Amino acid sequence: MNSPRVVAAVRWTSAFGALAVIVTIYRRWLHVNPTTVALSLLLLILVLAAEFGLRYAVAVAIAATALYNFYFLPPVGTFTITDPQNWLALFAFLATAIIASRLAQRAKDEASDARARQRELEVLFRLSRELLQSESVAALLSGIPAAVASVTAASSGVLYLLEGDRVYQAGPVAVSAIEIPHLRQLTNTLTGAKGDGGEMQVPIRTGVRPRGLLLLRGVTLSQESAEALGSLIALSIERSQALEGIARGEAAKESERLRTLMIDSITHELRTPLTSIKGAATALLTGGVAGENGRELLQIIDEESDRLNRLVSEAVEMAQLDAQQVSMHFAAVNVCGLVQEARDQCAWVEEQHPLRVQVPRTLEVRADAAVLRKVICNLLENAAKYSAVGAPITITAEARGEMVVVNIADQGVGIDPAEQALIFERFYRAHTQAEGTPGTGMGLAISRAITEAHGGSIAVTSQPGQGSVFSVAIPAMA
Ligand code: ADP
Repeated sequence: MNSPRVVAAVRWTSAFGALAVIVTIYRRWLHVNPTTVALSLLLLILVLAAEFGLRYAVAVAIAATALYNFYFLPPVGTFTITDPQNWLALFAFLATAIIASRLAQRAKDEASDARARQRELEVLFRLSRELLQSESVAALLSGIPAAVASVTAASSGVLYLLEGDRVYQAGPVAVSAIEIPHLRQLTNTLTGAKGDGGEMQVPIRTGVRPRGLLLLRGVTLSQESAEALGSLIALSIERSQALEGIARGEAAKESERLRTLMIDSITHELRTPLTSIKGAATALLTGGVAGENGRELLQIIDEESDRLNRLVSEAVEMAQLDAQQVSMHFAAVNVCGLVQEARDQCAWVEEQHPLRVQVPRTLEVRADAAVLRKVICNLLENAAKYSAVGAPITITAEARGEMVVVNIADQGVGIDPAEQALIFERFYRAHTQAEGTPGTGMGLAISRAITEAHGGSIAVTSQPGQGSVFSVAIPAMA
C-alpha cells in the first residue's frame, strides 16, 4: 500500500484537489480581489514545495496560473488578457511561485542531508561503542558483520579478511568458497568505498595496506561515512590484536615467573630435609653411633622423609588443581557435619587447644565434601600451629546472602598486615612467625584454589599478637 507509486498518486490528487478547492471557494462563495486569490494560491504552492517537493509545486503553479488567468483576471472566463498590467501580474505570480518553491525544496534537501549525516554519525558512534566492548579478536571479528548490520539497518553484512582468507557474515547472504577469489581481488583493487546495485563495498585498510572488505546489502551510506566505517573497523581490529598480544606476553611472563618460583621453592624446600636425611644416614653408615644417638638419627630420617612426602604430595595436589585435573562432585553438604568430619580428621588439634563450635545445624553448601573438608582441616591445623598450646580456637558459620561463611578464629601470633595477602601465594610463609614452625607454605594456596573451584573465596583478618580469623565463603545450597 505504501509503494512509491501509491504515494505519488495520493500526492498528485491532493495537490490538484487543494487547488480546485481554493479556486472554487473564491469563485463561488468568497468574492475577493485578484491579489488575495494570488496570495492564497502562492501559499498553497509554498506548502506543496515544502511538504511534497519541487515537481508538485511547479506543476500546480502552472495550473494555478492558467486558472487564475481564466477565473480571476479580466476578461473573466477567457484565457485572453487585455490589460498589459495583468500580464505582468501573471508572470510575477508564476515566477514567485517557482522561485519560492525552489528555495523551499533546497531548504528541505539541506535539512534531510543534515538528518542523514547525523544518522550516519550516530551509526559510527554506536558501532565504535559496540566494537570497543569485544573481549577478544575472535569475538570482535565474528561480531562485526552483525554489529554493522544492526547499527546501519543493513539487511546483511559480510566481512572478508585477506589474512587467512576469512569470511564472517550476518544476515541472509552466504558467501561460498567460490566467491573468495573474487573478494580477494576486489580487496586488492578497491580504492574507495562504493555502492552499486544495492550493495556497498567498503575497503578495510590500515594506512594504505588493504586488510579486507566489508559488503553491506540493503543500505546506502555516504562515501565519507562508508570510509569512516572501514577505518573504524580496521582500527578496532588492530587495537584488539595489540591488546591480545600484550595479554599473551604478560601471561607468558607470569607463567615463567611462577615456574621459576616453584622450582626455586621446591629445590629449597626439598634440600633441607634431604640434607638432614643424608647426614643422619651417613652417620649411621660410618658406624660408631649406637644406642640412644642411633635412635635419634633414625627418628630424624623418619620425620624428614615424612616432611618430604608431604611437600611432594602438596606440590602435586597444587599442580593438579592448577591444571583443573581434580574432579569434584558437587552436592548438598551439611556444614555442621563437614566441620565434625574435619575435627575427626585432625584430632590432634583438640588435644592441644580447646575448640568452640557454633554452627547452625541447618546450613548447607553446594560442595565436594571430601575436598572442602581439606580446607577446614588445613585452617584448623594452622590455627593450632600458629597459637600457643591451650589457646582457644573458635569455629562459627553463618548464612550471608547466597553464601555460607565459615570462620575459624584463633588467638595466636597473628599476621603482619603487609603479609596478609601474600600468605595465600604458594610456598609463602610469613617471615617472623613461621620460623621454627614446620610447614610448606602450600596449605593456604591449596585452600584458595579449592574454594575458588567451588565458586567461593577465602580471606583473613588478623592482628599481630592478637590472633587471626580465616573466613571461607562457599555458595549456599539453593
Ligand atoms: P604452612 O602453614 O605450611 O607454612 P600455609 O599456606 O598453610 O603454609 O600458611 C602460609 C603462612 O601463613 C604460614 O607460614 C604462616 O606464616 C601464615 N599463617 C597461616 N595461618 C596462620 C594463622 N592461623 N596464624 C598466623 N599465621 C598463619
